[in-house]
Amino acid sequence: MSSPDNKKTEDSYLDQSLRPLTWEEYIGQKPIKDNLKILLQAAKQRGHAAEHILFYGPPGLGKTTLANLIALETGRQIRITSGPAIERVGDLASILTNLSPNDILFIDEIHRLSKQVEEVLYPALERGVLDIIIGKGPSARTIQLDLPPFTLVGATTKIAMLSSPLRSRFSGGVFRLEYYNEPELAQIIKRSAEILGSDIHDEATTEIAKRSRFTPRTANYLLKRCRDYALVHSKKLDKQTVRDALSILMVDDIGLMEIDRKYLNVIIDKFKGGPVGLGTISAAIGEDPSTVEDVIEPYLIQEGMIERTPRGRTVTKKGFEHLGFDFIEK
Ligand code: ADP
Repeated sequence: MSSPDNKKTEDSYLDQSLRPLTWEEYIGQKPIKDNLKILLQAAKQRGHAAEHILFYGPPGLGKTTLANLIALETGRQIRITSGPAIERVGDLASILTNLSPNDILFIDEIHRLSKQVEEVLYPALERGVLDIIIGKGPSARTIQLDLPPFTLVGATTKIAMLSSPLRSRFSGGVFRLEYYNEPELAQIIKRSAEILGSDIHDEATTEIAKRSRFTPRTANYLLKRCRDYALVHSKKLDKQTVRDALSILMVDDIGLMEIDRKYLNVIIDKFKGGPVGLGTISAAIGEDPSTVEDVIEPYLIQEGMIERTPRGRTVTKKGFEHLGFDFIEK
């Protein structure tokens, strides 16, 4: 029998296999791709490592995939880590001194680096050196280690939380990933279905695309769940199968999930539609505030269901109506 852990392993394996491996397979985000191609080509012609690059935007839009693509397209190795994983200055020093020349260093959630680690990163980014302090007190001295040239690729969902000195070090560019439109998502779903060996109908593809919250990760997730459903019920992967599969997942016709409806419901039911603060909502629905801010709210804002105001969050008329409530005029 498949345990949840096995399922997780299978899913992460599938996620790996669905990752685009070329610029052509990476759908959408054309301005970013165009800029990166020039940046990388120019660096190659000069024989240097490319300058440091930052990607920002909501989760699941393809930041990690881009970092991997940069490594693949330049034939360089990539070292993947994250802000919270680099706890101490020593962790960063060990990562940096183990890089090979022109490697890509990918730091996900880079806004979560500590101040001390950031301070050590600056000279590494600017002058390619590591300043190490040996000893304590008056006898302490600094030695400098030369580092191999490397390209830092940072990713964050919270650009505002990045210190401005760190932000200014990304001389290669700071790129914002955009949400995907339906035709782009449909292309992604078709490609993924092909890799998974699923024969998916065009209408089914559109149906999944519509409910994917403009996000490739969600599109792939929904596709996999629909494919499981079709397999278990010996059904074709057509529009009806998608509808049935997604109704079991409680994903509604515009892609809202149970937690999104709970979020709206709490504000309407307990707070007459708001305004209400993030902390209060998070506590009421039992979710971490950063999950609420990064995962739940961006899509509800995009869909015009809520507004973020200085006094807190409010549900719009569209939000009330989507849940079947009469709008409470303020
Ligand atoms: P992020 O790092 O922004 O959270 P990821 O790079 O992990 O997002 O992307 C999530 C998944 O979505 C990837 O595994 C990949 O299969 C898919 N994906 C993301 N962007 C694209 C794209 N532009 N084209 C095709 N698939 C994509």
